[in-house]
Amino acid sequence: MLTIEALSHRLSSYLEPSQIDQVKRAYYYAEQAHDGQMRRSGEAYITHPLAVAAILSGMHMDHQSLMAAMLHDVIEDTGIAKKAIAKQFGDTVAELVDGVSKLTQIEFESQAEKQAENFQKMALAMADDLRVILVKLADRLHNMRTLGAMPPHKKRRIAKETLEIYAPIAHRLGMNDLRLELEDRGFYSMYPLRATRMQAALKTARGNRKELVEQIQAAIEKRLGREMVNAVVIGREKHLYSIYQKMRQKKKFFKEIMDVYAFRIIVDSVDACYRTLGVVHNQYKPVAGEFKDYIAIPKANGYQSLHTVLVGMHGVPIEVQIRTKEMDEMANTGIAAHFLYKSSGGDALNSSHNRARQWVQGLLEMQRRAGDSLEFIENVKIDLFPDEVYVFTPKGKIIELPHGATAVDFAYTVHTDIGNSCVACRINGRLAPLSQPLQSGQKITIITASGAQPNPNWLNFAISGKARSAIRHYLKHQRHHHSVALGKRMLGRALADIDLDLDHLSEEHKGKLLSATGLASLEALYEEVGLGNRIAYAVAKLLHADADVAPRGGSIYSPLTIDSSDGVLITFARCCRPIPGDPIIGHISSGKGLVIHQDGCHNLADIRDNPEKTSLVSWAPTVTGEFLVDIRVEVESERGIIATLATRITEQGGNIENIHVNERDAHNSVINLCIGVQNRVHLANIMRRIRNMSFVIRIQRCKN
Ligand code: MN
Repeated sequence: MLTIEALSHRLSSYLEPSQIDQVKRAYYYAEQAHDGQMRRSGEAYITHPLAVAAILSGMHMDHQSLMAAMLHDVIEDTGIAKKAIAKQFGDTVAELVDGVSKLTQIEFESQAEKQAENFQKMALAMADDLRVILVKLADRLHNMRTLGAMPPHKKRRIAKETLEIYAPIAHRLGMNDLRLELEDRGFYSMYPLRATRMQAALKTARGNRKELVEQIQAAIEKRLGREMVNAVVIGREKHLYSIYQKMRQKKKFFKEIMDVYAFRIIVDSVDACYRTLGVVHNQYKPVAGEFKDYIAIPKANGYQSLHTVLVGMHGVPIEVQIRTKEMDEMANTGIAAHFLYKSSGGDALNSSHNRARQWVQGLLEMQRRAGDSLEFIENVKIDLFPDEVYVFTPKGKIIELPHGATAVDFAYTVHTDIGNSCVACRINGRLAPLSQPLQSGQKITIITASGAQPNPNWLNFAISGKARSAIRHYLKHQRHHHSVALGKRMLGRALADIDLDLDHLSEEHKGKLLSATGLASLEALYEEVGLGNRIAYAVAKLLHADADVAPRGGSIYSPLTIDSSDGVLITFARCCRPIPGDPIIGHISSGKGLVIHQDGCHNLADIRDNPEKTSLVSWAPTVTGEFLVDIRVEVESERGIIATLATRITEQGGNIENIHVNERDAHNSVINLCIGVQNRVHLANIMRRIRNMSFVIRIQRCKN
């Protein structure tokens, strides 16, 4: 059985003594943490992390990955906090351990193959540091090796996950050896009967083929020797799971696949690869269309090799792969090959993430030499460093969103109606702001309410195209709706001044309005008026050119009533902040609709009698809601004064939006407050309460 001493000895071949000490320290820490815990096989739990670290040491992974391997189940299984690990072993190791735990926690409940691919991407997106993935893969490999002790249903679930998620991830990362073992073990546990039967057939076939394999191998070796090519020829045995997949995907019989003889030729240089190709093509007739040059055009995971198929003696097909030692190493261990070259400490250049990037960089470099292929670059980037986040719906479906996306983006991605009626969200069960950026692996629940509407503020944080266009579309529609309604009211009022009723206009009058304005419909005319692009008074005048409507424009008979629910086209001016009860006047602002000011607002002094720019308005008796108002309080400076003041306002039902304090001198201060009130009466009550306070010298409402 493997011991920490034996592992340390192995590590001394490529790690510094101080690094080995740290790995040991992590081991002893984990041993203590898992003390008393057993694996299902009956062994002490610590044998598992130790074995995982050993797998990683086989890939010559750095000491931090090995430490993370030792500690990888500590957070999950012993309740020790990430913080405690950070304190003992540093932030990097703690992050790695935390990353592995998070991956372990997400439940894979794939129904569809498409989901499996998203899940792979989710796993990659969750790992900021690719070492997290490597530790997780080693963890999974050891669990597969010791799967025997598990009950059958659990076995199948883990095997399925391995085949659908982890083996493909190993493939993406070019780690062929690891992938093959995961696949074969997964296959055995998933389909024990099929696997056993195929294994038996494979054994028989191998026995029958043995002689011919040796013959072909010898023939190739001989010819290469004659041509002075230094090469190692290996008879390649196909793996169980890849045979199975070929049978399924290419609809071939076991025998057809087994009738192919496969060899790998390892040579010293790229040049020798092509020379070897020439030699074997000379020796046996190549099959047309089967030659592939993955040296000039590598596969997306960095795989390089020459592939060809030949027709051998007795007409048997011979598959040949030709590559250099480096290419072979790359093909077997992929990204892990980049950890082979030992680092001396944790400087930025040697950090694993950088090396992972270097690996990608290397792939890109290969590709550049081979000729440009955007698709290739995109594949590598998307596969390893996804720009997307992947989150779960409550039912476990995976939704892909752009990086930085929020619950609003999520809601609109699920369905436009859900987006439009969304009011709040839960992230992993907890209420969270709609604006909070989502992270891969989270489960998102959207809370909707009937009658809810998209908020224009969402445009400040929604980033997906679908959400943004849906919100804009809705607001535009809403704006149109509001402007038509407002325009109709304004025009109706203007017409009433000249004794015409908009609802009972004659066809002649309607025609006259449309021809004079050049608009296609009354609705378009209302919208123009509502938006402030046309003046209701001027439009009304078209029907009564001779009438002297101007004086009556300021008529008090039928002022437009203002309700706080009037929506986007009525806004309240910030300069004077009118509240219900104040005398008000509307300013018709082109494109913006009506802006409501206090009647005495200085900003409107010059235009207040101009009926083309202002509109007579009054508060609807039903008006409700919160309106902001500015007040100014002069006080004698005293400790805790702000708190007392704030409490007093809140007790009266006022909402404080903003407080600003100006020290005037040692004794006096001026406090400017912006508070939300319902109306004038409410404001008067609040001001009276403040005035009664002993330290208040003066209080007034600010205008301009
Ligand atoms: Mn584990």
